[in-house]
Amino acid sequence: MNQIRQLIKRSLTAVVPRRLFLVQGTSPHPQLSPESHTGLHSQAPVPLALTFDDGPHPEYTPRLLDLLLQYQQQATFFVIGAQAQRHPEIIQRMVQEGHEIGNHTLTHSEPAQTTARQFLAEIDQTDRILRDITGSIPRLVRPPKGKLTAGKMLGLWRRHKTIVLWDTDPRDYQMIENSQINQWCERFEPQAGNFCLMHDNHPYAIEAVRQLSEHTQYDIRSLGVSHWLASGTKPAPVKQRASA
Ligand SMILES: [Zn+2]
Repeated sequence: MNQIRQLIKRSLTAVVPRRLFLVQGTSPHPQLSPESHTGLHSQAPVPLALTFDDGPHPEYTPRLLDLLLQYQQQATFFVIGAQAQRHPEIIQRMVQEGHEIGNHTLTHSEPAQTTARQFLAEIDQTDRILRDITGSIPRLVRPPKGKLTAGKMLGLWRRHKTIVLWDTDPRDYQMIENSQINQWCERFEPQAGNFCLMHDNHPYAIEAVRQLSEHTQYDIRSLGVSHWLASGTKPAPVKQRASA
């Protein structure tokens, strides 16, 4: 992500209410329940959010769900509507096992070639698909590649969506072997509130969950992104951010 986009991200984070735009889960931290301490570690657990985009994938996502269940990590999946339509049973399983689901558009169309109108139509179609599968419409949205325009942002806020980006990116989609994700997990120094971007249409997210959960230097506890949404705050008037 280039410097200008980083700057925009930081500026938006500073001025836009958390219920509209989240990049990371800064304080207040959600309270971890006592049972979230696994006993594997002497350190205090670090609450963060593991997020997985671009699924569901028929092979990788079920394997990932198996591991999340095994390690009692709660994830957030930003799913592609067309993929959800193909694999509704995986979406149902995500919900049953306590994970959160966000909207990642219908086809993951290239942001630069997608108008606000097309983008929002994809968001609406994906909302309907997910409502038919799960019974509810997701509040969380992650735009493909994290790229937005003012028009897309306003359209999302008019739909009462929370835009969710990330502050931690192992670039798992570029990896070609397990040693790369192993090295990343070794170097990673988790901070409370990190939002970590991974992809469940690639195999390395699975290995990352195993390694992050079994790491001896830290004890991460993944929670759904919604845990960091401040409750009771009113949405800001959307026109304020039109020039952002
Ligand atoms: Zn994506």
